[in-house]
Amino acid sequence: MYLHGTSKINDKGHLEIGGVDSTELAQRYGTPLYVMDEALVRRRCREFVDAFQATGLKFQVAYASKALCVMAMCRIVEQEGLSLDVVSDGELYTALQAGFPPERIHFHGNNKTPMEIEMALDAGIGCFVVDNLTELRLLNAIAGEKKKQVPILLRITPGVEAHTHEYISTGQIDSKFGFDLGNGAAFEAVHEASQSAHVRLLGIHSHIGSQIFEVEGFSLAAEKMASFASRVRDELQIVFPVINLGGGFGVRYVEGDTPLPMSTYVEAIAEAVKTQFHAVSYPMPEIWIEPGRSIVGDAGTTLYTVGTSKDIPGVRKYVAVDGGMTDNPRPALYQSEYEAMLANRANDAADEQVSIAGKCCESGDMLIWDVQLPAVNSGDILAVASTGAYNYAMASNYNRIRRPALVFVKDGESDLAVKRETHEDLVRNDVVPERMKQKETAR
Ligand SMILES: *Cc1c(COP(=O)(O)O)cnc(C)c1O
Repeated sequence: MYLHGTSKINDKGHLEIGGVDSTELAQRYGTPLYVMDEALVRRRCREFVDAFQATGLKFQVAYASKALCVMAMCRIVEQEGLSLDVVSDGELYTALQAGFPPERIHFHGNNKTPMEIEMALDAGIGCFVVDNLTELRLLNAIAGEKKKQVPILLRITPGVEAHTHEYISTGQIDSKFGFDLGNGAAFEAVHEASQSAHVRLLGIHSHIGSQIFEVEGFSLAAEKMASFASRVRDELQIVFPVINLGGGFGVRYVEGDTPLPMSTYVEAIAEAVKTQFHAVSYPMPEIWIEPGRSIVGDAGTTLYTVGTSKDIPGVRKYVAVDGGMTDNPRPALYQSEYEAMLANRANDAADEQVSIAGKCCESGDMLIWDVQLPAVNSGDILAVASTGAYNYAMASNYNRIRRPALVFVKDGESDLAVKRETHEDLVRNDVVPERMKQKETAR
């Protein structure tokens, strides 16, 4: 397993993260346990900010909180000077409870409800990223009732779709998000926004995909944004002060994933925006980006305790851990791949090939197919790397399994950021209707 950030093997032959022995973490907090390497999270934040600062351009880096939205994470993001993207009342609430400055919060999503819009307006958030005309009209109306004028970006579908190792450019992208550039919807939206008294159009937004390992998709998006901005200026006399190019910067999960340094993405984006906007004699806009996975992904490690095994000679050996799709649904959802090691026997030769199964009643509840480990015993601590993004965020209570605790580790210390759920938590919102409280139903 690749050792990310501060992870290393200590002299006991144990995996150590943030200066803390992972077997001690497992003992103290129980398993499964999400462990976040705080120094690595902060380093990732700084890589983006420093790279932008070096360009001399105006910028905002907004952490896409959907990757991991807990109050402690909001605190780190605030301290590092980033902005924050939210996509629901729940994420907004979490950020506000954490004391995140509302003016640095951006609200995303393709179906914001009237309640969410009101909540965000009352909180005084910095910007709405408007996805469609229904939302534009609703937002304009609600802001009007509140006698406010709210800054917005319009989400554009630029016709660029980035894949891990390729990108494609198409005339029209089949997407539930945003105003299409090719069919005129984006232009119409700009026109309507400019006529809407209670919104103030700051600019346009695009997000071309996730887990992107190349810069070309961003350059192409910048080119399309510049040409669109130029047309809007020429025909509507509107100049955008902000261009948002979204997130999607890749991280390493397994060998073969080849993320670029975050500075490389930033430099390429800055260069493309400079070149493309200069080419149409456009005043240099402020550049916003929205990394999620790349801030928290490789900083996360999940610790599990090994339980049972099932060896099918000549076929496969299954090793089951005390978690699974409830704490990491990504393998089941997207066939995502992960690396693992035995945290308590990190120096033992990995001479057995096994597959790691979860404990849910689902054959698809597998965490890793085919991983090389030392011969595994019940009670061993299994560490799975790069689980910081979209793991806790997507965790569920399927099979009424309690969601794990999450700790941040740094400089030899560990601190709880999310407590393990209790049995009481599981039934907290359950209600037994009166008529079901009798012992037996008369038949
Ligand atoms: C999901 C998302 C992001 C973050 O994507 P990552 O792959 O986690 O960096 C940014 N912007 C928007 C609009 C998104 O939907």
